Amino acid sequence: MSFAELGLADEIVRAVRELGYETPTPIQRQAIPAVLAGGDLLAGAQTGTGKTAGFTLPILHRLSTRPLQRSGKPVIRALILTPTRELAAQVEESVRNYAKYLNLKSMMMFGGVGINPQIDQLRRGVDIVVATPGRLLDHLAQKTIDLSHIEIFVLDEADRMLDMGFIRDIRKVLAVLPRVRQNLLFSATFADEIKQLADDLLDKPAMIEV
Ligand code: AMP
Repeated sequence: MSFAELGLADEIVRAVRELGYETPTPIQRQAIPAVLAGGDLLAGAQTGTGKTAGFTLPILHRLSTRPLQRSGKPVIRALILTPTRELAAQVEESVRNYAKYLNLKSMMMFGGVGINPQIDQLRRGVDIVVATPGRLLDHLAQKTIDLSHIEIFVLDEADRMLDMGFIRDIRKVLAVLPRVRQNLLFSATFADEIKQLADDLLDKPAMIEV
């Protein structure tokens, strides 16, 4: 099984090949077709399994093959929430690498750094935002971000997010997202609180566990 056989666009397959990925990992073999199919996904996966490519590659495919009917600046169509700045930076770097041959812009958004450069970047237009919850809420409060075009929402490391006390922030973000969208939830563990969140967030999800 190759990345091309999973149905990913040539531009994405080329970028992955150049990064030295030969074959998809088990989570990628399961997650990529599930996300390409357009439904919700509940995935149990630890870091180090290749889960980031498991959700970012099919997201890039879906965004690039279903262009928005709109001229000019990109709008935010995918939102990925992570518990930490480090993870947001890593995920965004992966997105940028995988999108090398696509016309899609990504940005990372987290606190502890100036907000103005982020506002400038948002004004120039972005397709994919990788954010930690706090700074995202700051942008929402200041009305410097528009999440009304989100098509795909990802909660990465959901268990760590809850451990860090982000549940209320997550629910505030969910409240401003469009009702019709694709939702992906990744977690290493599944305590009752995660199951409850998954229940609220996901509609008939495909379930995978590696
Ligand atoms: P992750 O679990 O998403 O944090 O990924 C762990 C590491 O595996 C990252 O450094 C990726 O660049 C790398 N990686 C992801 N998918 C593959 C693959 N199919 N083949 C080789 N390396 C990969």
